[in-house]
Amino acid sequence: MGGVTVRLDDLPLRDDLRGMTPYGAPQAALPVALNVNENTHPVPAEVADDILDAIARALRDVNRYPDREFSGLREAFADYLGHGLTREQIWAANGSNEVLQHILQAFGGPGRRALGFGPTYSMYPILTRATGAEWVAGEREHDFTLSPASAAEQVVRENPDIVFLCAPNNPTGTPLGLDVIEAVYAVTDGIVIVDEAYQEFSPHDEPSAVTLLPGRARLVVSRTMSKAFAFAGARVGYLAADPAVIDALRLVRLPYHLSALTQAAATAALGHADTMLSMVDEIVAQRDRISATVAALGYTAHASWTNFVLFGGVDDPAATWKALYDRGVLIRDVGIAHHLRVTAGTADETTAFLDALASVGSRA
Ligand SMILES: *Cc1c(COP(=O)(O)O)cnc(C)c1O
Repeated sequence: MGGVTVRLDDLPLRDDLRGMTPYGAPQAALPVALNVNENTHPVPAEVADDILDAIARALRDVNRYPDREFSGLREAFADYLGHGLTREQIWAANGSNEVLQHILQAFGGPGRRALGFGPTYSMYPILTRATGAEWVAGEREHDFTLSPASAAEQVVRENPDIVFLCAPNNPTGTPLGLDVIEAVYAVTDGIVIVDEAYQEFSPHDEPSAVTLLPGRARLVVSRTMSKAFAFAGARVGYLAADPAVIDALRLVRLPYHLSALTQAAATAALGHADTMLSMVDEIVAQRDRISATVAALGYTAHASWTNFVLFGGVDDPAATWKALYDRGVLIRDVGIAHHLRVTAGTADETTAFLDALASVGSRA
């Protein structure tokens, strides 16, 4: 290396970025990594083979730019979501984080404001500010639930241009009723984003916000292949919305933002949706086992419709986090006082976590 290095503060950085901290979930090579809500089950071999074939075919044409409209992939997402959706209503990008960034670039930006109900997904304020808008921190009840009346009242009071509703909510796992979405939509002229990153882990008979799309042109429902679909490393997120919203996102995306290899891999994986999702019930069983066992150890487990559990009653989260780390188990300190969050893994990983937590001593 060599040469002169300066501090970040010495660079002519945008004023509104000064003092910000980047997204920073620790990445450590521990035997049991249950910290970022991945599906810890590997992609089944027969699906991996099919994806490899699709990538190999795409590679032969990789001298050319990919299909800018990723029509095949959008068609596949429309089929997967069902409810009569067509590809004109679908958008995708490199992770739902990029999908959310596109929405903020198109509908947020300098002079505008985005509101979310904390504690919620830590990327919402980061993406909001990075695209030049102001973040407004709304609130939840003490048990992290959000009622239609409270949500609507806060939206009326703050009058944001964009509202984030995380359904179910990360990092708390809390379900969010469709009545909250309806109540918020009715009192705003802005964009309402429902982030359904964990929808597949909700009870199977619970309706998706996708059912609310007809007649609501400012409603956007985002999803990801990173969680239930065991595809976090491929970076694929998507959304469903009115075709006019999709037109707005075309204004801000980079040309050819989804590589030919990504399109091929994601389309092939979607062709095996049933197999890719076959582990979801197993993960939900491990989640419920975590909730019951941490409660038996004297902690409080918050209701979760996701693949993780937020538990409270932790005297010193940093100390418990470190004690688990030293036992080879990586979980997440999400910055909520006296709480820690753990992802439901395979049965063996979940056992490793529960045994380690028990050995740390209840209420360590
Ligand atoms: C994990 C997660 C995402 C997905 O991120 P990707 O960029 O698709 O990997 C989006 N929203 C929430 C709330 C999440 O927890």
